[in-house]
Amino acid sequence: MRVRGLWCGAGDAGMTKESVDAFVERVADAGFNLILPNLKQGHGRVCWPSKLFPSQIADGYQDFDLPRHLIDACTRHKVELHAWFIDFMEGVQHPNPKWAMLDKNGNPTDSEMLRGKRFNARWMCPARRPGYTDQWLVPLYREFAEMYEFDAVHHDYVRYPGDLAPDQYCFCDYCLEHLPLWAGYVTRSMPERAFNHPTYDREYLESHWEPSPRVLPSDWASLSRSEKSRFLLEEGFFEGGRKDLDHFFYEYRTHWITEFNRECANAVRQARPGMKISSAIFKNPIQSGRFIGQDWRRHAPYVDVAMPMDYRDHFPGSFDDYLVLLAEPIEDQKVWARDFREYYPGAAINFMFWEEEIPLKALALAAEFGDRTNAVVFFGQIAARLAHEDRELHDEIAKWVGFGGAGDLRDAQRYVSHKREQFFSVPSGGSAPAFATRLRVFADNPPKSYWPKEKLERLVGTVERTGVDGLILFCEGHLHQYGLWETARALFV
Ligand SMILES: [Zn+2]
Repeated sequence: MRVRGLWCGAGDAGMTKESVDAFVERVADAGFNLILPNLKQGHGRVCWPSKLFPSQIADGYQDFDLPRHLIDACTRHKVELHAWFIDFMEGVQHPNPKWAMLDKNGNPTDSEMLRGKRFNARWMCPARRPGYTDQWLVPLYREFAEMYEFDAVHHDYVRYPGDLAPDQYCFCDYCLEHLPLWAGYVTRSMPERAFNHPTYDREYLESHWEPSPRVLPSDWASLSRSEKSRFLLEEGFFEGGRKDLDHFFYEYRTHWITEFNRECANAVRQARPGMKISSAIFKNPIQSGRFIGQDWRRHAPYVDVAMPMDYRDHFPGSFDDYLVLLAEPIEDQKVWARDFREYYPGAAINFMFWEEEIPLKALALAAEFGDRTNAVVFFGQIAARLAHEDRELHDEIAKWVGFGGAGDLRDAQRYVSHKREQFFSVPSGGSAPAFATRLRVFADNPPKSYWPKEKLERLVGTVERTGVDGLILFCEGHLHQYGLWETARALFV
């Protein structure tokens, strides 16, 4: 493949000129020729000496000009350089809370709970003007483009929140006022007139849509925020008609994300003609248009390089299912991305290892709880790998759970699926076995050889067979974590 890219954390490059050069050299040596360091981070901090918003500079980057050193190192090692920005997700301490997205109760995203924990980020409203988009985000892109001759800037989180309440934003004051105007639910010059159709002379109520009757109910002004929000998301264009206003709600969100792309491209291309714009987007723009306002087919005039995140966690099923399913959206993406100058699918390294990682973590936990009943199920899934890495530890666990027949993964799988009932009947021991601490140490930092390197080979092979001429991997830290530098080198150099 011609283009081999890698998303990286800013911290991966270290804080000296020498460490940045060593970092880029290591990446280039493993065969990567494009990197995307994260320079506007998830908590809203930036990793360059910004003159616009000096209070938002991440610690240490006031004095250490990381982008400058990255340019030098990437020029030396012939690596293409994209500045990765987290767009609409900010820290909870963002200095202008008025620009935050609000739900139907007027609360920002950090008031939500996600998987049992408080959601620790504040998403900003893409629509509000003046607001976060035109007063903060676009100016940051402009400043970066003016200061640094990177090959590209890179969008991420260019959307509404997805794993968090995908229908509940945004109902800020601006959106409550402007969505109805944008969608033509009311006229500006005669806002009180209902403009009902003179005759309803056709079978389908919706066939009378064209004179644009007033959609808002007559008591709109006196409705509460939650009542207005409910109306905009759940009611219909015609009272008594189809409940179709959600269509306009989703279109409104898609419009503003597209509009941001347009404004950003204007600013970047004016500041530095020739600088490219790339974008990390979701795998299916039709679905992401509905759920997160990201119909990226519409971004083509404003984005040069499409990089859909075809991560395993965006697909159902096992790793083998993933390799089969992955080829499908790539074929579709070739069409969806045909108006972009370049298109490279992205894949995540960490999610490849669920089969090895999740049962190992669960097993360590079960041992700490003295829970033999569940431990046997998790052990069965990784027994062969454990035996290969640490025979002694494997045997101790096998003895404890009363299971010694893990010849290979297939045996273990058969054992787990056919003899599980027998083991569920064994009462839980209740106290942690002696090896629990050793197992915890192993699980927290397994030897690199624990991870099946062939998963990366199979993934890259699958992508290669689709005929695309690039692949972007997430991320640099995972190459360390799963010990994949040599595998990458063998594949890419
Ligand atoms: Zn809003």
